[in-house]
Amino acid sequence: MKKTFIGFVVASAAFSQTPRAPQPPMKALHPLDESYLNWPVTPENKAYTSIDGQHLKGYVEEQAAISRRYRDKGHQFWGRIIGTEADNENAQWMMAKMKAAGLTDVHQQLFDLPPQWMPQSWSVVASAGERTLKLDSAQPTHRSVGTGPEALNLEAVDVAFASSADLANRDLRGKAVFFYSTDFFSRHVTVNDGAFKKIEDLGASAIFVTLMIPGDMKMQFYPVNSKVPTFALSYKDGLAMRDLIGAARGGTAPHVKVAMDVKMVPDEKTSTVWGTLPGATDETVIVTAHRDGWFEGANDNGTGVATMLGLAEYFAKIPQAQRKRTIIFLGTSGHHDGTAESGTWLSQHKEIFAKTALLINCEHTAATQLVQGNQIITKSNWASTLTWYVGGSKKLEEITMKGYSAFGVPTQEIPARSPAGEIGRIYMNSPAIQLIDTGLYWHSDYETPDIIPAPALANVTRAYAKIITDIGAVDLKDLQRPAGGY
Ligand SMILES: [Zn+2]
Repeated sequence: MKKTFIGFVVASAAFSQTPRAPQPPMKALHPLDESYLNWPVTPENKAYTSIDGQHLKGYVEEQAAISRRYRDKGHQFWGRIIGTEADNENAQWMMAKMKAAGLTDVHQQLFDLPPQWMPQSWSVVASAGERTLKLDSAQPTHRSVGTGPEALNLEAVDVAFASSADLANRDLRGKAVFFYSTDFFSRHVTVNDGAFKKIEDLGASAIFVTLMIPGDMKMQFYPVNSKVPTFALSYKDGLAMRDLIGAARGGTAPHVKVAMDVKMVPDEKTSTVWGTLPGATDETVIVTAHRDGWFEGANDNGTGVATMLGLAEYFAKIPQAQRKRTIIFLGTSGHHDGTAESGTWLSQHKEIFAKTALLINCEHTAATQLVQGNQIITKSNWASTLTWYVGGSKKLEEITMKGYSAFGVPTQEIPARSPAGEIGRIYMNSPAIQLIDTGLYWHSDYETPDIIPAPALANVTRAYAKIITDIGAVDLKDLQRPAGGY
């Protein structure tokens, strides 16, 4: 009892409410890029160290630059957006890299796109009395409706976490409704147990969600299926809005002016980029990476594309006779537009996978572990832990896990039942594996090359190279899923 009491006193002192003078933030002792941990490689895996992390990170930076060029032409909705010139630029860029690596039959398979959701411009400004607050972080959820030519001017209300208790007896008709979420990794309709729908059903005229991830980031949500203009806000703007509404309580409510011009742009095209590395047999390994991404998309999917190109370069240097299987590299259109042209086409052409020993999806392969603290996010000098999927025989599971552990690839304890992301439509056509990171900055403008650890990018790429090499000693049928396997 006595011990507990002393512990309690110490803890109370540590959480003393006495205000302290603000202290200047501590600074890093080393630039993050120089302090990332390197995984030691054992002698039998030395060959894979020709896969260089800094070189691959250069590919991430080049893709981020394609996004910024598109943004700097005046596009408020930006990234390597499917159907735009940034899509074509990154396809041409990828083909040049594939040709330089020595792949054969490098070509672009074009697809016509249905009309694409392209918000042309938007603005959100709140006001309370004399005070105005520009909510610059406001980012429309994908496929959100616009406002038409007339801006909306709506009374702002705060519904906290939009739980059933928060929404009980609320009349939200004609209101701009702000809510908050600690559902950090949800960027879609499901956030906070279907909050968008609950709010809309109460009559809201505009909806704003703030994920409680410290910072001032713009965040792109997937479609949330609301029928009113819907936006994500940064933590900074979300809390400022909460305070504005709170300060006005009992008096005149703050108002929000919302303007958004949305066009559905017809006649655009996207593509799958193909490249082949012929092997000693007509059995194949297929390596995919989706080319699209929001904002700079350094991890989604700059790293995945870099990993795929790193594999192409590595295997192109090995004599054809020593490569058991032909390797097909696919830069796919992606899925952020919702229609996923490459994936849809591949799902309709199962014959492509008739002799496929392994499908490897390179998607969000390396990001810095971000640690959420009190009102801040701290970057670490190690890679974030990846979600992983392996669909095949016990032998394939073994080879895969050996590959990851040889290069210190951190994974969650339990693999995923199915692979989230680009190969969702095709993974059951052959044995398949993937690693994927969807961290705190995923789908935001904070997802920059600055959070991509070159050593981790090398580790994942080396692990995939080892897995491709190691399955070379295994018959195709011995890699396949058992009946009823995932
Ligand atoms: Zn992705």
